[in-house]
Amino acid sequence: MSYIGICEYVIGIIHDKDIWYYVGEKDANGKRLRTDERYSSFLVDARRYDDLDVLRWELERLPKTLTYKILEIQRCPKCKKEFTEYPALSREDNETEICPECGVKEAMDVYLKNQ
Ligand SMILES: [Zn+2]
Repeated sequence: MSYIGICEYVIGIIHDKDIWYYVGEKDANGKRLRTDERYSSFLVDARRYDDLDVLRWELERLPKTLTYKILEIQRCPKCKKEFTEYPALSREDNETEICPECGVKEAMDVYLKNQ
C-alpha cells in the first residue's frame, strides 16, 4: 500500500449526510470565533492536528450535542488533492488508494472505452 507524507487529522462533524470540519475556537489572528463560525464545509478551513492526543483532548471539550469523527487527511496521488473520505482503489494497479472523485473518473473512463 502506498503511503504519502505525514499523517494529519481533522475533526469532522456529522451533519445530516454531510461532513463539516472543525475550524477551531480562534481564527489565524487569535480572534475568538462565533459558534457558527467554528465549522466549515471546506477541508481547507479545517484545523489540522498531527498529534492524535491533542486532537482527542480538544474533542473532549467540544459540545456533546454534535457527532464527531476523527478524519485522516490523505492526498490523492492522481490529482494531488486532499481528501478525508474513504479512498477508492485505482483500477490501474488495484492497490493505489486514490480519492473517490478519481475513482469515479477511472470507472467512467473504463465504461466509455467499452462503449
Ligand atoms: Zn484524485
